[in-house]
Amino acid sequence: MMQNVVVLGSTGSIGQSTLDVIARNHQRYQVLALVAGQGVDTMVAQCLQFKPRFVVMASEQAAQTLRAALQTTALRPLPEVLAGTKAMQEIAAHPEADIVMAAIVGAAGLLPTLSAVEAGKKVLLANKEALVMSGQLFMDKVIKHRATLLPIDSEHNAIYQSLPYAFQQDQTAHLAHHGVSKILLTGSGGPFLQRPLDTLDAVTVAEAVAHPNWSMGQKISVDSATMMNKGLEFIEAKWLFNCSADDIEVVIHPQSMIHSMVQYRDGSVIAQLGQPDMRTPIAYGLAYPERIDAGVAPLDFAKMVNFSFTKPDFARYPNLQLAIAACRSGQAATTTVNASNEVAVAAFLCGEIGFTDIYRVNAAVLEQADLPATHCLDDILAVDGVAREMAYQRIQSLR
Ligand code: NAD
Ligand code: MG
Repeated sequence: MMQNVVVLGSTGSIGQSTLDVIARNHQRYQVLALVAGQGVDTMVAQCLQFKPRFVVMASEQAAQTLRAALQTTALRPLPEVLAGTKAMQEIAAHPEADIVMAAIVGAAGLLPTLSAVEAGKKVLLANKEALVMSGQLFMDKVIKHRATLLPIDSEHNAIYQSLPYAFQQDQTAHLAHHGVSKILLTGSGGPFLQRPLDTLDAVTVAEAVAHPNWSMGQKISVDSATMMNKGLEFIEAKWLFNCSADDIEVVIHPQSMIHSMVQYRDGSVIAQLGQPDMRTPIAYGLAYPERIDAGVAPLDFAKMVNFSFTKPDFARYPNLQLAIAACRSGQAATTTVNASNEVAVAAFLCGEIGFTDIYRVNAAVLEQADLPATHCLDDILAVDGVAREMAYQRIQSLR
């Protein structure tokens, strides 16, 4: 049966990979709506190819530019072009949507993703920041509204694939009851695994976004270089797999062929392997529990030599240590570190602060923040707002 897909963040790296998988499987999936922030040119091309019924842009200005551009094409009927967060939320919850790919980057993805959850959709979660920001609230909504949540982040997808089917089907299940003793979250270590520590201050934007194995958006590329990405994934894993920080261990695996592992009580370790290509987890999420073509080449085991594994060095990756500490502290701490990091990474990307300043900002904000108990979405958004303001001020003082 044909499935209607909404792609939140369609012009980004994950969005484009999602559309690639959909195009390869056009007999199963059609695009109901595309949602993006910027990138009108890319959006025009996506409209021509996928003929969505709705498009939502972040701003009215981008929506107007898009409407004008679409008028000049041969595409008819034209999609309805809307703007703003409210429209994104409505489209994510559209009655005819079967699957929602949540691939907006950062906190901007939270509200549309929650709307998809509240509408009980099959939600493919790439936007880890949404879950890091709102953890328990997000998972409570998944259970209450009987949404199907499938992790797209390659590590969490690998863990999910390595867990028993009975666990996958039960959001309230406990790992220990299914014989699991540990989740082994792998990470490549990013581009600076070997770089002398005393030269990290001088890292340029171009160096930071050049990941050795994965091609990704700018924010997650910087997060991978600081390993804040692994820290956010640590928190993400805690929520997705209903466990605690003690159940998760980070393992450095520079080759990025093993995407993560699950260790069982009896000594077994089950891993998922594959090319570092997000189309594999995306295809898995779209078709779950079936399997479809993702356009990904099979692994060539003759070429897979020198697999290595080490422990992360917190002197090299202080942001990872900070995020794990925040995970142990609780919701306000993880919301705070996520917000601060988003502001700090944006400042690094536009040349306002240095690479190692990202940690300085995050550590100072987490140190100063009040960390009140959070009971609802408004509480979480308030904590997020305060942390952003503190991060801006810290950045001013560093400049
Ligand atoms: P990207 O920067 O390439 O794309 C981001 C998308 O979000 C774009 O379509 C952009 O227009 C849209 N967007 C930005 N601000 C918006 C706003 N205010 N309203 C609506 N749309 C907005 O990022 P990406 O690499 O595709 O990552 C997307 C998400 O997936 C992130 O949360 C990232 O952590 C996660 N993720 C990405 C990868 C990867 O390989 N790229 C892997 C795992 C997880
Ligand atoms: Mg990942």
